[in-house]
Amino acid sequence: MLGPPGAGKGTQATLIAENLKIPQISSGDLFRDHQDRDTELGRVARSYMKDGVLVPDKVTITMVMDWIEQNTGVGGFLLDGFPRTIGQAKALDQALANSGGIDLAIYVNVPETELIHRLSGRLVCSKCKTQYHTIFAPPSEPCICDKCMTELNQRDDDKPEAIKKRFQVYQEETAPLIGYYQVLGRLREVNGVGSIEKIGERLLRALD
Ligand SMILES: [Zn+2]
Repeated sequence: MLGPPGAGKGTQATLIAENLKIPQISSGDLFRDHQDRDTELGRVARSYMKDGVLVPDKVTITMVMDWIEQNTGVGGFLLDGFPRTIGQAKALDQALANSGGIDLAIYVNVPETELIHRLSGRLVCSKCKTQYHTIFAPPSEPCICDKCMTELNQRDDDKPEAIKKRFQVYQEETAPLIGYYQVLGRLREVNGVGSIEKIGERLLRALD
């Protein structure tokens, strides 16, 4: 699954994985799993993350390949949030060379103005972590959590300056993957504007 921040990749990946009965792998989940199990890879990843440094491609790729090796025979998998760079994509293709690499890259296309609208409206309860959205899922009382009456906040990640930075990183590092998979004839582009159900239908049709 490819797409800019706020495109709804995680939500859609879960729906597709359930529909196709294949596991969904996200690099974030793999990091957490390795850290929970306190593996060597988990410790290495943590040493970078605690300094606020991006985990090097090599570590992430090793985790993904480790998962794939442990799960052969599951009939496929869906990668969500990985690869994030051309370097990771090439390494993945090399590692999967025996089975012909990944089958498809699905690009969820959403215009930037819509993405900013989505991301900048997100609110989260600092106490129970319930998520809201000023337009799509507003709380009953403005800025107050329905469940625990705590004040709602915007995540630092969703503040205007941070959103701008996330888009910039996406444009520079991840967006080139669209061309990379297009050249390989493996890209499917899906319109990511509309209801979750509608977008889900388009994705399943693209995968058919
Ligand atoms: Zn709450």
